[in-house]
Amino acid sequence: MAYDHSSSGGGGGGQQGDDRNNRRGRNKKKSFHRRKVCRFCADHIKTVDYKDTKTLRVFVTERGKIVPRRISGNCAKHQRLLTKTVLRARYMALLPYTAMVPSSQY
Ligand SMILES: [Zn+2]
Repeated sequence: MAYDHSSSGGGGGGQQGDDRNNRRGRNKKKSFHRRKVCRFCADHIKTVDYKDTKTLRVFVTERGKIVPRRISGNCAKHQRLLTKTVLRARYMALLPYTAMVPSSQY
């Protein structure tokens, strides 16, 4: 008796699975390539110099925001290091705290 119940339920589950596959097809449009490996780990970089703005700018948006880890692909260790370094670079006026406000607005 109980066995019959479980077998019929399994059939229904299969149909639901098909629906899910259709949804996945939509998501496929979001082709968004990102490097899975941390950039610093890949290059075996242990320290980031605050004067190396060329490297730092890659991880800072135009508005001066630090790119989050899930987008940059950095590991936690290097993201922390990077954040500290960016803050230092900001203090030394090598990187912007925020985007430039157009003078016409004032
Ligand atoms: Zn890393």
